[in-house]
Amino acid sequence: MIAEVIINRSAKKLNRTFDYNIPKNLEELIMIGSTVLVPFGKSAEGKETNLATGYVVGIKENTAYEVKDIANVKHNLTENQIELAKWMAKRYFCNVSDCINLMVTPGTKSQKKNNVQEKTINTVYLKKDIEEIEFDIEENKIKSEKQKKILQFLKNNEGATIAEIEMFTGGTRAIVKTLEKNGYIEIVEKKIERNPLANKNLEKTENLKLTDEQQNAFNQITKKMDNNQYEQFLIHGVTGSGKTEIYLQLIGKALSQDKTAIVLVPEISLTPQMIDRFISRFNKEKIAVLHSKLSIGERYDEWNRIKEGKAPIVIGARSAIFAPIENIGIIIIDEEHDSSYKSEAVPKYDAKEIAKKIAKENNCPLILGSATPDLNTYYKAKEEKIKLLELTKRANNSSLPTVEVVDLKTELANGNRSMISLLLHDAIAKNLAEKKQTILFLNRRGFSTFIMCRECGYTVKCKNCDISLTYHKFENKLKCHYCGYEEDVVTVCPECHSTKIRYFGTGTQRLEQEINKEFPNASTIRMDKDTVTKKNSHEEILNKFKDENIDILVGTQMIVKGHHFPNVTLVGVVAADSSLNIDDYRANERTFQILTQVAGRAGREKEQGKVIIQTYNPENFAIQCAKKQDYKKFYETEIALREQLKYPPFKDIILINFNSLVENEIKQVSLDVYKYLVENLNSEEFKIMKPMPSPIDRIQNYYRWRMIIKGNMTTEANNVFNDCLKLIYNKNYKNTRISIDVNPNSMI
Ligand code: ADP
Ligand code: ZN
Ligand code: ZN
Repeated sequence: MIAEVIINRSAKKLNRTFDYNIPKNLEELIMIGSTVLVPFGKSAEGKETNLATGYVVGIKENTAYEVKDIANVKHNLTENQIELAKWMAKRYFCNVSDCINLMVTPGTKSQKKNNVQEKTINTVYLKKDIEEIEFDIEENKIKSEKQKKILQFLKNNEGATIAEIEMFTGGTRAIVKTLEKNGYIEIVEKKIERNPLANKNLEKTENLKLTDEQQNAFNQITKKMDNNQYEQFLIHGVTGSGKTEIYLQLIGKALSQDKTAIVLVPEISLTPQMIDRFISRFNKEKIAVLHSKLSIGERYDEWNRIKEGKAPIVIGARSAIFAPIENIGIIIIDEEHDSSYKSEAVPKYDAKEIAKKIAKENNCPLILGSATPDLNTYYKAKEEKIKLLELTKRANNSSLPTVEVVDLKTELANGNRSMISLLLHDAIAKNLAEKKQTILFLNRRGFSTFIMCRECGYTVKCKNCDISLTYHKFENKLKCHYCGYEEDVVTVCPECHSTKIRYFGTGTQRLEQEINKEFPNASTIRMDKDTVTKKNSHEEILNKFKDENIDILVGTQMIVKGHHFPNVTLVGVVAADSSLNIDDYRANERTFQILTQVAGRAGREKEQGKVIIQTYNPENFAIQCAKKQDYKKFYETEIALREQLKYPPFKDIILINFNSLVENEIKQVSLDVYKYLVENLNSEEFKIMKPMPSPIDRIQNYYRWRMIIKGNMTTEANNVFNDCLKLIYNKNYKNTRISIDVNPNSMI
């Protein structure tokens, strides 16, 4: 194999690739993005060959030249990264290579076939001395005025692109080519640094004077930074309490120590508005942004900027935790409760666990921040495994919004059959009259449908698991996604004998229609998975809502994060029940989080915001606690339930999925796994449920089975599961795949 290598020298002549042979013993180690040592040039005495550093930018089969061998690979992944990959493979039941793929420069995975076509640009340099050129002009060797103009322009603007030359001199590409042919200039192909922040120019912001609560948090964390110590902190602060300001100042501190920083945020809140706050505090050149909307080339560039030490601040979604950054001074995970930190694809890692490992390795603090911490995180804080820092007040003195709860049962009893209660209707009308904006929110998650009695709010729950049963239309059955329990669809409410039983699904479209009917003069915009499709569109809708001052935004929960709408004073939650009845043991927690987050969207400025929550279950404690914005009360109630029902953080839920083309085989494999686990796991500690077909038991040609286990995934248990997998794979079940997920986000 042949590597295309760019020599790491600034000489313009060397701005091209050189081919080198990859010797057999290095074949495994060299990939695009590898730093290599290659023989290059002669030593001063002209005898032996010097070694130069270069970067592998391409790999191909053949070359037309006679080439030398690459001498060595200097730097690829670090040993720590390899160690981490091995640790992950064991913990998340996947291959080491799956994990390494997260760490290598993006676009290098399928090195042999699809090389990343680096975007390049043609730049123009003078080839002769200025004096020589001016001599030629005097001697009339150059006659064309356009040629003269171009050469003069280049005198002050070497490295301009052909397009720039065309624009500023009126010359053309053909004239440039002629100058090249005549030896006056050279055209150099240059890699474009596709910095996604390139077009940003923001006014610089200074550190704000911290409030006492902020200062206390800052001091405790920086004390650890000063002593080069790992410690995990949870900053629990209401929305607007100034968490981000603390992050900014902590990053400033890390930079002043000549260290680097990683900031993780949920993918969806990686909005320009959020990133702007970091750019306006720090030089944008210092920031690398990593998220899924970057093209592969952009990611490749960002990765390299980080690797080369040009960007000491990395901001990104989950996988940015694997950025090739060294000498880390602080790791920050914002909105730490967000489920996107747990990967649902192989490797099914938890970025918070990875962050903890990396922080420990770097002897630096790890900061988790949230207004509604993950119950597991808060539990650890209570157990003093994580240091709790609290911010109880809003930093800019704006007050928290008022929250009102509307009982939809009463609404129905009073003959109002629409999706909008009278209270919400009046509030919208008032807002329209005052030219304020409104957000209406249907907090639905996932794809499941549940049924509910509209008379009394009763929903059918599993008697084993206390989780809402999901309606399966095809079989007309209600199923528990945890234990497989199923029952027939009810048509009469078992609680109040009413027949007003209804299926609940999405309804953003219907809601928008209803709004348009009720308020024909109001402008509306809708955001849900139908309207958010192409790249950036989520962003576009929100910008449109903000910039064009559209009266009402109707959407699902994707509207809640990272955005700041100064003119929004009213938020309506149209049916809080949708998230209360998701088929998940975290239904209460999700509801509390969502309601608190949406409430945080209202009245972020001087004006006080108003939130109206509509529900059939007004007495539900998650709704009540969200109304009072009382996290602690919520936590205490919910944690007691978790303990009683043995859900996390008390026991892990381990989901094993089997996937197979062959029905007989899938049964055999899952039975083998079941037997092995029953024999090898402690039966006091683990509750192992029998394998059964998954709630969706076939996708295309694949049969799907699953097994659920409750217990603590200790190191010992982890070994049992790994041994089990090894055994099964050795039995040569070719058609079946097994995946194990600990505390998955979704049980589907
Ligand atoms: P959070 O991240 O907790 O939601 P932010 O850091 O975004 O909070 O702060 C909310 C608002 O308060 C922002 O407009 C921010 O500029 C302002 N703010 C934060 N800290 C201070 C401070 N110490 N003094 C004055 N204003 C502050
Ligand atoms: Zn009922
Ligand atoms: Zn159940």
